Amino acid sequence: MVTKQFKAESKRLLDIMINSIYTHREIFLRELISNASDAIDKIYYKALTDESLSFEKDNYYIKIVTDKENRALKISDTGIGMTKEELDDNLGVIAKSGSLNFKKENELKDGYDIIGQFGVGFYSAFLVSDTVTVISKAFGSDEAYKWESKGAEGYTIEPCEKDSIGTDIILKIKENTEDENFDEYLDEYKLKSIIKKYSDFIRYPIKMDITRKRLKEDSEKEYEDYTEEQIVNSMVPIWRKNKKELSKEDYENFYSEKHYGFDKPIKYIHTSVDGAVSYNAILFIPEKIPYDFYTKEYEKGLELYSSGVLIMNKCPDLLPDYFGFVKGIVDSEDLSLNISREILQHDRQLKLIAKNIKTKIKNELENILKNERDKYEEFYKSFGRQLKYGIYSDFGSNKDVLQNLLMFYSSKEKKMVTLDEYVSRMPEEQKYIYYAAGESNERIEKLPQTEIVLDKGYEILYFTDDIDEFAVRMIMKYKDKEFKSVSSGDLGIEIEENEKSSSSDDKDNKELFEYMKNILSDKVKDVRESKRLKNHPVCLSNEGELTIEMEKILNSMPNNQNVKADKVLEVNINHDVFRSLKEAYTKDKDKLDLYTNLLYSQALLIEGLSINDPVEFTSNICKLMI
Ligand code: ADP
Ligand code: MG
Repeated sequence: MVTKQFKAESKRLLDIMINSIYTHREIFLRELISNASDAIDKIYYKALTDESLSFEKDNYYIKIVTDKENRALKISDTGIGMTKEELDDNLGVIAKSGSLNFKKENELKDGYDIIGQFGVGFYSAFLVSDTVTVISKAFGSDEAYKWESKGAEGYTIEPCEKDSIGTDIILKIKENTEDENFDEYLDEYKLKSIIKKYSDFIRYPIKMDITRKRLKEDSEKEYEDYTEEQIVNSMVPIWRKNKKELSKEDYENFYSEKHYGFDKPIKYIHTSVDGAVSYNAILFIPEKIPYDFYTKEYEKGLELYSSGVLIMNKCPDLLPDYFGFVKGIVDSEDLSLNISREILQHDRQLKLIAKNIKTKIKNELENILKNERDKYEEFYKSFGRQLKYGIYSDFGSNKDVLQNLLMFYSSKEKKMVTLDEYVSRMPEEQKYIYYAAGESNERIEKLPQTEIVLDKGYEILYFTDDIDEFAVRMIMKYKDKEFKSVSSGDLGIEIEENEKSSSSDDKDNKELFEYMKNILSDKVKDVRESKRLKNHPVCLSNEGELTIEMEKILNSMPNNQNVKADKVLEVNINHDVFRSLKEAYTKDKDKLDLYTNLLYSQALLIEGLSINDPVEFTSNICKLMI
């Protein structure tokens, strides 16, 4: 018997491949099962085109048998088999794919289910075995042949006996090493779980003899082992089934079987798309936040299958970050895979699918918002923050997708409302969408700055999430209306100035304010008469882009840059306190100093800002008492 050399640069290639293409050893099983499935597909195809051959479904299957004693793992199929020449050609030439040829020769479209195309998968058998033996009898042939190889050394082919058409691949599993446990590839349960993971949706039954225990006959205590043939794979994936035949429970079971979450999804989307790109997908919108969702550890992504074979557990490119909470699977035959079939080429197809999916999710969320408001609000409690981050990130480029999905608590409705609802209720003369930012609705409700806006009968949106103000900055305008913080200097509200004070008063006040401004020189940009206060003596407003709330948030971050909003202390000249200020201004400057500092501290407290020197503040209060 002559040992033939692998052709071309096969020897080197084999080495490189075994050690570098595949990241997980266990995928050898996926590759061999995929080949077996291809071989059955081919005979099925032959039957379709050859009238003398009928395809009896039950006769076609893949069988996995372990033999621990001999460290052998056998993968058999009842597929088309290989002739001597084909063994030589397909297994003797690395990177030659008989399957790709088959597709070409038979002019099968891309969409056809045959998996093989690169001509390397077979050699992944050497990831776990020292010797690979292939015994095959081709369809239409009376002879069987045995191909055998110990790896880079080459291979032998010789005639042998085999009863039925098909192929047996026998792997001599490697001995355990210090770092690697190869025994597990002889373990039924491990094998079963690998099959479940990668090959669950191979269309033909994958059978395995599973060892079980039973009571010995006539015995109540003694057990004996027996084997039972089981079909390990589910064959038809739920996403290939007809939607009409599936119930809500089927989808929910799938959701929990896949460990997408412990909750029940609030919505599932099942789509089949045929067009520029074809795919099936099932997407779930969860109800509850996964515990690690808002951490770096959370990995977004969808499961990706190509022709029923798992390619990637979490393909991140299929989901934009802001929809990172969506779970589910995508199965497409149109993907260009790289040679290990573990990674995708970043290709047009994938981008198209991702774009479709994004639109699907957006539309579905809008539907829920429109038709199932309560459900949407539940969802929004969990993931609203993520949507707002989505608007904020990428310089607002996603605002068109997301802005209609936003909700904020409304001063008027006392519940969550959308921007659209807000704008459609705006009185004609109202120029802006008003918002107030703070820690909680309760705190915002008490902000003195809201008084004038509320008095006007205008609605205020409450911003209680850190990200809120930053997000609307990115939106800039919604339906042509700009956003305006109730604390901003210019509220764009006309004030009836019928209680206009005399000009001499005005001048006096100006001097007083100037004096106060000097007292607070390093703290505020200005001290001014307030046009918005009614019941409170003072409040802070801000000038410029950065609001006081933003200052708080930015300074609470780890990379705190100690930014400062330009603050203005506004004074209510109709308040009794103002009279005391005026009196102090003429009679007692020390007192004015004390009052000014106290009022400034009060304004800080109202804003939820901290007082620089609490000891000074309390001793100032004590001074009032003595
Ligand atoms: P690919 O599947 O990408 O074509 P492989 O290295 O996995 O590459 O297999 C090489 C070729 O060997 C296949 O294209 C096929 O022609 C042949 N082959 C492998 N396994 C079998 C099998 N079980 N039955 C029939 N042909 C097979
Ligand atoms: Mg293959």
